[in-house]
Amino acid sequence: DPRAATAIGQAVERRLRSFGAGSVLFYQEPIEMVRAEGVWLHAADGRHYLDVYNNVPSVGHCHPRVVEAVRRQVGTLNIHTRYLNAVVDAYAERLLATLPAAIDNLVLTCTGSEANDLALRVARAATGGQGFVVTRTAYHGNTAAVTDISPASRPGRPLAPHVRAVAPPDLYRAPDPGARLAAAVAEAAADLKQRGLGFAGFIADSVFSSDGVHVDPVGLLGPVVEAVRAASGLFIADEVQPGFGRTGAALWGFARHGVVPDIVTLGKPMGNGFPMGGMALNADLLAAFNAEDKYFNTFGGNPVAAAAGLAVLDVIRDEGLIDNARAVGDHLLQGLREIANAHVAIGDVRGAGLFIGLELVADREARTPAPAIATAVIEGLRREGILIGAAGPHGSTLKIRPPLCFSRDNADRVVEACDTVLRGLPVG
Ligand code: PMP
Repeated sequence: DPRAATAIGQAVERRLRSFGAGSVLFYQEPIEMVRAEGVWLHAADGRHYLDVYNNVPSVGHCHPRVVEAVRRQVGTLNIHTRYLNAVVDAYAERLLATLPAAIDNLVLTCTGSEANDLALRVARAATGGQGFVVTRTAYHGNTAAVTDISPASRPGRPLAPHVRAVAPPDLYRAPDPGARLAAAVAEAAADLKQRGLGFAGFIADSVFSSDGVHVDPVGLLGPVVEAVRAASGLFIADEVQPGFGRTGAALWGFARHGVVPDIVTLGKPMGNGFPMGGMALNADLLAAFNAEDKYFNTFGGNPVAAAAGLAVLDVIRDEGLIDNARAVGDHLLQGLREIANAHVAIGDVRGAGLFIGLELVADREARTPAPAIATAVIEGLRREGILIGAAGPHGSTLKIRPPLCFSRDNADRVVEACDTVLRGLPVG
């Protein structure tokens, strides 16, 4: 439709005029969104899309209970965070009750980046070390300090002197990923110490999302956390991606690996789209930080954020979304593994709950990453009315991450559409 194409062209031009050419837009022909509900996004041209990219409105777009909680609180009290407020305290108590007993204090922020930035400060204060170890394609946010520990943000560029990047636990390419990662972290920590930088900690998200989705084997983080502590560093669990039930195993991604982090950072799904982040940790660790440094956040944990956060926790519990993530995630994983038999381009299908990675390869034997196939599948799925993204060092792994209220029918539709799109490709 040439008229629709012109309208999109004009919308893109308008966007770039204000925000510059660096403005991030999905798809060769971007989509203008106007509204959403549940698992569906609706575009300005009247098309509907099944959201399989979702990692923010995790309990479903515009969930009525979250919308109502925000609407009511924003019309009652919406202030900075220096006053007592029962909604905020209730949220902190509810959230901390879901975490291991040793993690009993909370700082609220507006974004995951702020939470990670603060976690770095806490880890440095606690250990006296400056150095951090991350995985090779990690992403932990956008402040100056967390950009330094996010190799994904500056591909091909040298790391800051205080940062070491180690290979992610990629079971598709090498056995025993937990032991490998533990050894790599130990070696990197020793190197940081030897160079006089000291070792403050290891930060990772337990599904290794931007590294290409690596979730197995369960428990792989056990030896890694041991190695971190043996080197006197802290383990920071970045729950921005795996948190709030996505893995279908528990509310928190680290729990799936049977470890207790020193610091847990939170973001994206926390307010189902209302900007919210946080850092949870042991009270003594926070007190030690506060003895030599200060942190204040004007908007972080305001009453409206707290109301949104409470509604999110209510919905996850009342709608059984962790169980749903596990059941529908397993069903989806199985469906994708079945079609993998028919498509040589599918190298691996892996996942936990509703966080699944489907890796596309140019050669199954050599396991050669195929980013061009991934891009073609993403564009093809969009034509089928499905929105999806890619991850990994080469962008060759489809990141399948729908809202937690995804149904079996929704999952079947994704499997069928992947099959159709791959059949249509010369390589599929
Ligand atoms: N950590 C991880 C693992 C993330 O995926 C992101 C965002 N993509 C962040 C931190 C940063 O969160 P935010 O964009 O809310 O600052």
